[in-house]
Amino acid sequence: MSVQLDAAGRLRHLLTLDGLPAPIVLGLLERARGFVHTPQARAPRGRQLEGRTVVNLFLEPSTRTRVSFELAARRLGADVVNIEGAAASTVKGETLLDTVYTLQSMRTDFFVIRTAESGAPASVAERVAADVSVVSGGESHLSHPTQGLLDALTIVQRKPDVDRLVVCIVGDIAHSRVARSAGQVLRTLGVRELRLVAPPELMPDDAEFPGAVRCLELDAGLADADVVMALRIQKERMATAEIPDRAAYRERYGLTGKRLRSARRDAIVMHPGPMNRDVEIESDVADGPQSVIRTQVANGVAVRMAVLLALAEHASAR
Ligand code: ASP
Repeated sequence: MSVQLDAAGRLRHLLTLDGLPAPIVLGLLERARGFVHTPQARAPRGRQLEGRTVVNLFLEPSTRTRVSFELAARRLGADVVNIEGAAASTVKGETLLDTVYTLQSMRTDFFVIRTAESGAPASVAERVAADVSVVSGGESHLSHPTQGLLDALTIVQRKPDVDRLVVCIVGDIAHSRVARSAGQVLRTLGVRELRLVAPPELMPDDAEFPGAVRCLELDAGLADADVVMALRIQKERMATAEIPDRAAYRERYGLTGKRLRSARRDAIVMHPGPMNRDVEIESDVADGPQSVIRTQVANGVAVRMAVLLALAEHASAR
């Protein structure tokens, strides 16, 4: 998406990983590695964003993504304002764009936007001032680019040879922005095989996820997988009648310790959160030795620091 890059090819906004050039992806991952720390160590800090303001405009619920952006911005010295759900003036009928213009007049440098409205982050990005950047914090079922980057970082930390990996994503893929962003970045990084496991009604259209292998049965999808990513059923994006029966779903698609034995012995288990324990993932698997779920969360802050810094460079280079 061209709006994401400036004329010099620098990152100007981050809205999607679809088509984001590999050198930019690799550059962000490399920079994020510099902010990764051991759980015991103090979080790295800097003053690079001193004097800049980040507004987290979250029109859909969020805990980890919002807090993660906030910590990333604060640890780089930025001022942070959080506007969430009912506090947003959009509830009073103001358009998202008017809210953005209002906040831009108060000298906001970065907008992190989470919305259920497809296309809204791009439409804001096209209209903000030249030195203001927009980052998607999750757009409908379509895109969650910083999640895709933190997932990629978590994978390459453990398994650097992406071109040899079989990655299996299981769950509600049709409604998942996490799966879409993961699929896009893994493709850019040259993953050997991406497998999608879901019942037919939760499988995305054939035109999506080019090259991915689709499986209706979990055991087939897990066979010799190096990475297994379980997803939550996105009830909020479905009509009540479409929501699968919990017990039947768990029976057929729940990631249990027994099933995980079909994957490679050193396979890692991921989940973007929030988890429905003992539905899409058994508690013992979520907390077990193969789980990297907490590493994903930690990497989220590092990735968001890297993204904000890359965007700040675009603004200062103007
Ligand atoms: N937290 C992720 C998202 O915002 C995954 C989920 O909600 O299931 O899409």
